[in-house]
Amino acid sequence: MNSKKVKEGISLFQCPLCGELLEALTNVHCVTKHQLSKRELIARHGSAKYVAPRITREVQEWIRDAQIISKADFEVAQAAARNQFTRGIAR
Ligand SMILES: [Zn+2]
Repeated sequence: MNSKKVKEGISLFQCPLCGELLEALTNVHCVTKHQLSKRELIARHGSAKYVAPRITREVQEWIRDAQIISKADFEVAQAAARNQFTRGIAR
């Protein structure tokens, strides 16, 4: 899979020059992509934009959905166990 799946708890920064999302605006990115030191890039283009809040909300929604699924799974398992128990008594 080559989708940019959002990792839980990650914070992302957007490069002010090329808009690429990075875990951190690193000197390596600035030098290799833009031939500028991080300090020079920030001085010319502004600091990296923090984009984590949007990601966090998506992650929270994903967690909520996952909890709903696991609760349903739990109830199905409970019902199956109860069913088995009742059959056992009936015998
Ligand atoms: Zn960049």
